[in-house]
Parts: sequence; structure tokens; C-alpha cells
Amino acid sequence: MYDYDLLVVGSANADLVIGVERRPGAGETVLGSDLAVHPGGKGANQAVAAARLGARTALLARVGDDGHGRLLLDSQRAAGVDTVGVLVGGAPTGVALITVDPSGDNSIVVSPGANGRLTPGDVRAAVSLFHASRVVSTQLEIPLETVVEVVRSLSPDSRFVLNPSPPRPLPTEVLAACDPLIVNEHEAKVILGDACVSDAPEDWARLLLAKGPRSVVVTLGAEGSLVASSAEVSRVASVKVDAVDTTGAGDAFTAALAFRLGAGAGLAEAAAYASRVGAVAVTRKGAQDSFPTAEEVEAL
Ligand code: ADP
Repeated sequence: MYDYDLLVVGSANADLVIGVERRPGAGETVLGSDLAVHPGGKGANQAVAAARLGARTALLARVGDDGHGRLLLDSQRAAGVDTVGVLVGGAPTGVALITVDPSGDNSIVVSPGANGRLTPGDVRAAVSLFHASRVVSTQLEIPLETVVEVVRSLSPDSRFVLNPSPPRPLPTEVLAACDPLIVNEHEAKVILGDACVSDAPEDWARLLLAKGPRSVVVTLGAEGSLVASSAEVSRVASVKVDAVDTTGAGDAFTAALAFRLGAGAGLAEAAAYASRVGAVAVTRKGAQDSFPTAEEVEAL
């Protein structure tokens, strides 16, 4: 009865990547590698990851009326995402300027651009997408007031999944809607703030649950993840792989978890599947390029 398994509301960025021997100081110029341009942004990444797994997926986002915006629309469509909700114009497409040094460390400057112009009014105008979607997921690379409007626009029987990245303190109204709130260690600590008095992920999960979410998932990189609800707190093992690039692993994990939950899986079962998806993603370079199909997850 739903047209979409997942509606992703979120950011779409062009990632502009240059390799450098070292970063320039103030007033200095250095030469770097050829420029590589990749579609990215957490919203766009999650939508592509879900569609590649076979989820009927729609994206609600804003890009600029420019070449980067067309790159993002093309990559969404190539993955099978419905882009009827992608708004065009109002500001340049969001950009992440990324320099990578020989040790593999990134320095990143983000210009939110059109992502910062995705308004509560844009969400209200897309209410039919909300009614048509079993699960709605978002992140924090769009304005917080827009995230609040997403929560207010949910259908009574649809499910809301939030990865609060980049993290900031959240209003109770948003926390209470999450089922689950998906955080890594850094995000857990920022959201808990002074309440974070322990080093144990189980304690973070319990403290986060006390803030209102119906469930919480803590991702722990190669250590796997932890799921928590009023009914259970349990560890989910990671899949042992040779990681080459962890970019986008969290986005792939979140998309896979949201998709499986919508299909009726329990929290631990959905997290186990998402771990397999994250594990494939870290064995390949890039973000969207690294996301597996359902067949590739099965083959793992
Ligand atoms: P984020 O990118 O948001 O920090 P994580 O690094 O915790 O998220 O990765 C998300 C999930 O991807 C993990 O919970 C795990 O299941 C999987 N994953 C990440 N890194 C690895 C790894 N090195 N080996 C196996 N699985 C991994």
C-alpha cells in the first residue's frame, strides 16, 4: 500500500577531492592532483544505498541549478531513486572541498549551499511523499527547523529513523520520534553532553533511550553495533573484512537498517543485515561507489 519503502530527507553535495603532499598555510598556494568530483552528502548517499539494495526509495532534497546539481540528479536516477522530491534552485549545490594527504587524512570545508535552503515549507509541500512512505530517514546536514517539520509531517503509521550527523543537541520532539536514533561514538557523546559519564556503549544507549527515542542503535565501526529498546540491549557483531575506505559506511548502514525495519525485521535482525552492508562498503573505495546490491550482500 506504500509507494516507497524509504523516503530520505536530507543533503546532497558534490564532493570535490584533491590529493596534496601537504596543506597550504595562510597566504600560500600548493599544487595538487587532478580534481575528482563525486556525488555525496548524507541524504543522497542514504538514498543511493537503499535503492541499490532494492528499496523503493524517494529523496527529498534541494540542489542548485548547476552542473553539480545535475551530477547529483543523474547519480540518484542511475541508482533507481525517485527524484520527484528533489528541488532545484535557490542557491548553488552544496559542496564539500576535500584535500587528502599522503597518509590518507582528510581536511574538509563544506558549503551547505542549497541544503541550507531546504525549508519547512518545502517539507509541507511534499506531504504526499510522506503519506506514500513506510519509513522516513533524515540527518542533520539540513536546517534543524526542517528536521522538526519532517517529524511533524510523518504519517501516524510510518517509522522515523534519524542519524544526527553532524551532531548537535536535539529538541525533545525530534528525539521522541526516533525509532531508532542511530549514532556513532562521537554523535552519542555530543547528544548526551554532560550526561555522558561512562565509556561503555551500553550506558550511552541507556542514557540516550532516557531522552525519549523508542530505540537506539550505536555503531562502533569494526566493533559492530549495539541495539537498544525498552525490550532489549544487545550487541551485533561486525563482519570481519579488510577495510580499505570507511567513507559512507555509516550512511550505508543507516539506509540498510531503515529498509529492513520497514520490511518488518526486528531491530537486532535489521542491524545484523546493515552490518553486512557496511562491511561490503568498507572493502571498496568511495562512498556511493562502494554501496552493494542485495546480491552482493548475500554473497558476503
Ligand atoms: P560512521 O561512519 O557513522 O562513523 P561506523 O564507522 O560505526 O559509522 O560504521 C557503520 C557500520 O559499518 C558499523 O557498525 C559496522 O557494522 C560497519 N563497519 C564500519 N567499519 C567496519 C570495518 N572496519 N569492518 C567491518 N564493518 C565495519
